[in-house]
Amino acid sequence: MEGGVTIQMVALRLASTAALGAAALLCAPLPPPRVATRMCLASEATQLLHSAAQAASEQQLRLRKTQAVGQAAGAGRVASAVYLVGVGPGDVELLTVKAVRLMASADLVLYDRLIAPEILSLVNPNAAMLYVGKEAGLHTRPQEQIHELLLQFATSGRTVLRLKGGDPTVFGRGGEELEYLEQRGVPVHIVPGITAAAGIAADLRVPLTHRDYADSVRFITGHARSECTATVQERYDWAHLADSKTTLVIYMGLSTLRELAGGLIEAGLSADTPAVAVQDGTTYTQRVVAAPLACLAEEVEQAGLRSPTLVLIGSVVSLLQQKEGDEEERQELSPTTSVTLTVEQARDMVAQMQPRA
Ligand code: SAH
Repeated sequence: MEGGVTIQMVALRLASTAALGAAALLCAPLPPPRVATRMCLASEATQLLHSAAQAASEQQLRLRKTQAVGQAAGAGRVASAVYLVGVGPGDVELLTVKAVRLMASADLVLYDRLIAPEILSLVNPNAAMLYVGKEAGLHTRPQEQIHELLLQFATSGRTVLRLKGGDPTVFGRGGEELEYLEQRGVPVHIVPGITAAAGIAADLRVPLTHRDYADSVRFITGHARSECTATVQERYDWAHLADSKTTLVIYMGLSTLRELAGGLIEAGLSADTPAVAVQDGTTYTQRVVAAPLACLAEEVEQAGLRSPTLVLIGSVVSLLQQKEGDEEERQELSPTTSVTLTVEQARDMVAQMQPRA
């Protein structure tokens, strides 16, 4: 624990200060003139409100779109293609509407290791499913074989979905699959997903950029291609990485965290830079370890974090907050109770949607 703080301690401290502040605000009587101004402002603000339908039609004019909302060209057309679909970091509510619609109507689904069972339960019950996940150091199915399977399935004329955690093009090999299939004439559509960095940062209430702390964000991987023999020290341009105004997000960095942190500090990043490691982010099993950069690897090891873990490094992490009770709430939720969108609800949503070509 030396030099580091666990998230629970941070949360407790923040929560008690916030609770005191909020209680003081609630108890303090408002002076009469302020109340009058507030009421006046509230009625002015209310006049600005309008319905969702009105908003959509006004937006139509502002953006000078030529087609009516929900009536895009080609609606209802079902193409025999491969969809590379990102399903977000784990929380089922972070799925896109498009992903839900495609899952509910897919014929063939290839899915990865990081995809939560709650998400898989939204797939068409009649779809044929194939697990193509890879475990670190245990490549169950080589990428080339996945390419061939996708090609064979696509040429069978059925709708093929390739489900990937987060966003399919962020360290997801979506780019390689796209290239392979397109070179062989298979139409490919990419459906973006919320990448782990965005989902987890939002959950922790850490802004990835902030005018006072960071003017850029950088996603890097701690994991090398299997044929890469360069050590971590040789692999990175440390001088560029060690920038106090950049938020660094490390994917697949658990096994190289010590070298990464050491390299950054050696290149000039302060040993006190706030950092946090998050396992199973956005799910009911989420675990969070926060510590200054110099102690993070040690703290993570002690806490026994395992894959998938994402690491955020940078001064924005000093804004880290966790809602009081978040951790306990998650622990109490069973995998089934964490499903807030049922299959029936998803089907209803899909039935109401107009697909876009
Ligand atoms: N395409 C994915 C990333 C795949 S690489 C995306 O856009 O998020 C796999 C790595 O992503 C994991 O090793 C971990 O570093 C990170 N990751 C993905 N989901 C995560 C989660 N729920 N919690 C923590 N890390 C996660």
